[in-house]
Amino acid sequence: MNGGDLVSRLQWTHGHLDGLELLAALRREFPQTLAVISSFGAESVVLLDLVAQLDKALPVIFLDTGELFDETLAYHRQLTEMLALSDVRVVRPDAADVKRADELWRTDPDACCHLRKVLPLRRAIRGFQALADGRKRFHGGGREAIRTIEAGEGGMVKISPLARWSQEQIDNAFRERRLPRHPLVAEGYRSIGCWPCSRPTGADEPVRAGRWAGAAKTECGIHRISKPS
Ligand code: SF4
Repeated sequence: MNGGDLVSRLQWTHGHLDGLELLAALRREFPQTLAVISSFGAESVVLLDLVAQLDKALPVIFLDTGELFDETLAYHRQLTEMLALSDVRVVRPDAADVKRADELWRTDPDACCHLRKVLPLRRAIRGFQALADGRKRFHGGGREAIRTIEAGEGGMVKISPLARWSQEQIDNAFRERRLPRHPLVAEGYRSIGCWPCSRPTGADEPVRAGRWAGAAKTECGIHRISKPS
């Protein structure tokens, strides 16, 4: 079965599922080759809580770009311990790429994201066939059209268990599951990535308006990644 046929079958059999049910179904499809990617950002704990409910040993990939807020690194440690996640993989760029990317966010953020995020992720997903993420349609932009199961480049199956969740469902999950907020949420950050490329946003702005604010760039590129051969 080629990659397109596989994704079509998965959409047919599991496309009606969301959240934990979807994650569990795809875990059965890929018992050894499903991973989760998390930024440990503003709403990341909602997906991580589902992971913890399903299997605390499910691999979680965390890209430490070298430009993250100290608060994000602390939140990563807090959530890993609180949820007892046993296989959180902190993935960093190569030292040579860090050197090449020094302050590159000022002049060429696409190249910076490529060196600090895309290349490390490509290395980290070797051996995996499916990758789950926390993207949601209500975040707008290109995310409005995402499906819960999609074909990634190179045959990777992309799974977004929260794609159809609303802001209200996310807020309910925080309340009902008593999940802690990222410390920067209290300062107005509603989407949190690297410190040079994130700013607080007002309630009247789109959730991701603070990412690469003032630039045409809206995504870092990791959601189009190719699976390495
Ligand atoms: S988000 Fe900004 S600092 Fe982080 S990798 Fe991309 S361009 Fe570089």
